[in-house]
Amino acid sequence: MKYALVTGGSRGIGKAISIKLAQQGLHVLINYRSAHDEAQKVMDYIIQEGGRAELLPFDVSSSQQVSEVLGGWMKNNNQHIDVLINNAGVTSDNLMVFMSDEEWNKVIATNQNSFFYVTRQVLEGMVINKFGRIVSIVSLSGQKGHPGQVNYSASKGAIIAASKSLAMEIGKKKITVNCVAPGFIKTDMIDGIDEKDWKRLIPLNRFGTAEEVAGVVGFLVSDDASYVTGETISVNGGMYS
Ligand code: NDP
Repeated sequence: MKYALVTGGSRGIGKAISIKLAQQGLHVLINYRSAHDEAQKVMDYIIQEGGRAELLPFDVSSSQQVSEVLGGWMKNNNQHIDVLINNAGVTSDNLMVFMSDEEWNKVIATNQNSFFYVTRQVLEGMVINKFGRIVSIVSLSGQKGHPGQVNYSASKGAIIAASKSLAMEIGKKKITVNCVAPGFIKTDMIDGIDEKDWKRLIPLNRFGTAEEVAGVVGFLVSDDASYVTGETISVNGGMYS
């Protein structure tokens, strides 16, 4: 049995990824911070469909929680994580001239520091086992920029760059490291953004779905993607390439 950890697996894109990976035969650890009922529903659905899943709540921005909860799970179960999906993320938009330290630090801590804390925690097991798939959900904003998102763009751009270096570090151990960069995807995160106002800027003329992102993640963790590493795949309806 191979284990997959999906951070922020309780809602939105993470929920769709959790379900997709369970369908691909992985035992999914669904991480979240506070939305327990939502996470429970995802787990119940996976189990009802014949898959395997369990809940593993911790705050990805806390080095201590990552080490205690995730490290504790690995130690107690004597298992390692084969597939890591760094998906949990937040926005805290503001024009830079008005941006507070708190808005900057919250986004960097949740989106960027988490990459370091969570990935470091699972790496040793992957290296020893000589197999691993690491996929991080970044953003169009981290590729081309977006006004009002200097903090968010910085955090996502950093993960794209870090993934390229990590891919070079651990390729010899048969561990691949890739990113998926969504454009506008219908989830709670973009609740306040009206599709009607934006769709004319999108060649495919609509927002995407969480399942359309999960499909690409499912490919990147599969054997079909065994020779793909250090890559960022866009899922943005043609907005940017
Ligand atoms: P949602 O807001 O719908 O869900 C976010 C998820 O992340 C929730 O499960 C939430 O759990 C979890 N989460 C947030 N903070 C933490 C934390 N500190 N520790 C653990 N879990 C946390 O977001 P989306 O599904 O839309 O986004 C998923 C990823 O995709 C993010 O990285 C986002 O930046 C990226 N993305 C999204 C786009 C979009 O248009 N939706 C576009 C481009 C990128 P809880 O509810 O318990 O806090």
